Amino acid sequence: MSDKFDVIVVGAGPAGYVAAIRCAQLGLNTACVDDWVDADGKPSLGGTCLNVGCIPSKALLDSSEKVEQASHDFANHGISLGKVSVDVPKMIARKDDIVSNLTKGIAGLFKANKITSIHGRGKLLAGKQVEVTNGKKTATYSADNIILAVGSEPIAIPVAEVDNELILDNAGALDINAVPKKLGVIGAGVIGLELGSVWNRLGSEVTLFEAMDEFLAPVDKQLSREALRTFTKGQGLDIKLGTMVTATKANKKSVKVTYRVKDEEHTETFDKLIVAVGRRANTKNIAAADAGLKLDDRGRVDVDDQCRTNIDGVYAIGDAVKGPMLAHKGSEEGVFVAELIVGQKPHMNHANIPWVIYTHPEIAWVGITEEEAKAQGIKYNTGFFPFAANGRSLAMNEKGGRVKMIADAETDRILGVHILGPNASELISEAVLAMEYSASSEDIARTIHGHPTLSEAMHEAALSVTGRALHKVN
Ligand code: NAD
Repeated sequence: MSDKFDVIVVGAGPAGYVAAIRCAQLGLNTACVDDWVDADGKPSLGGTCLNVGCIPSKALLDSSEKVEQASHDFANHGISLGKVSVDVPKMIARKDDIVSNLTKGIAGLFKANKITSIHGRGKLLAGKQVEVTNGKKTATYSADNIILAVGSEPIAIPVAEVDNELILDNAGALDINAVPKKLGVIGAGVIGLELGSVWNRLGSEVTLFEAMDEFLAPVDKQLSREALRTFTKGQGLDIKLGTMVTATKANKKSVKVTYRVKDEEHTETFDKLIVAVGRRANTKNIAAADAGLKLDDRGRVDVDDQCRTNIDGVYAIGDAVKGPMLAHKGSEEGVFVAELIVGQKPHMNHANIPWVIYTHPEIAWVGITEEEAKAQGIKYNTGFFPFAANGRSLAMNEKGGRVKMIADAETDRILGVHILGPNASELISEAVLAMEYSASSEDIARTIHGHPTLSEAMHEAALSVTGRALHKVN
């Protein structure tokens, strides 16, 4: 193998592997360095997203949702099953199969695109070189361009040290092999809610400890209030806001959690405890000191709006740089940088990145919330439409949630769309596309939507911006 490439990508998560594929498509001699290994110690491409993040969590969310439906919803359809039983190891094995298929798929794509896959831990050296360490072996490669796509890791808190036996991070929480009777979760953010939902549906009694007084701070308030009601009163998650976990003690088979609400201290014992208090850029040891790579005040690689670091020819993308830690943001940055390297003039709109939380119902949004519009002094109109008035939604037995649209009062340009409801993750794409084309609410209102579909809720929310919704009183 030659040790000189046009591009070396460090990291094969959704940012890095996509960057490598796009570089190769553009005719660049590309290598991708990654050190992830699976449970059997075999290299596994795809990073956190494919191995222990987006994909395995969605596999378990889907399995657990089927259990929930079989246990509670089928009866509404006139279907009786008797007692539903769950084979957790089989459920976990299905998840592992999906992960294995997809990670092997990336290896196949690398091969097909003639990308050199190098297993080991990469470190940026001075002079656009990358040192790769694999066990005791070290090799050095050089390239005209280097893309750092090293991702993020869970934030550790001293009061709850992860052992992945009783106190789990996101990876451990995807491999529990029996339903814990009582499950505690520190952090009611995206990961806490998704994993808490999985085990709640499978029968755990789930308590989430959230330091902030506000539930899901980035979400539009109207929706986060309704979501909180649904998750607590409707689904039985115990979400304790304004709560600080001050100590944990792991015994042989349980974890004692001490927490403070206002000035009162309480304790509660759980069979397992998940820590999901955020993630941080994985930049420790990413570069030799004399490489001179600049990090920002939050330990992320410092980049400009074109993902360029302070070193000429060295770029950084994905969770390791500023912006939301979302796989699709990293992938798009990967494509952007590859095209930049070959002299194209790519474009990426960071203001228009969709967010999705895979609870049930799902939460998805793009653009600004009503609170942000107010804070920015923007004059705006809002429209909304409840799924309870959408025929398709009712046919699916989905009665909660809404689509909310925020449009500029003067120009009618759509500023934000917020969805709590069935398939919100898919529905949001219409809003993202509309905003990418600077559409007005009138544009969506004049667009013909199929009937009966969930997307009619988007159409009606757009009509509602100007008081013209047809299936609700405006
Ligand atoms: P998060 O930032 O979404 O939530 C962490 C929560 O923990 C916050 O609400 C925070 O207030 C709380 N918290 C922090 N310290 C605490 C403490 N000591 N006690 C109690 N609460 C505490 O982070 P996450 O859920 O860990 O997810 C990490 C990242 O991964 C996110 O940035 C997210 O973008 C990404 N992610 C995205 C998806 C998705 O797109 N569906 C899924 C999983 C993860």
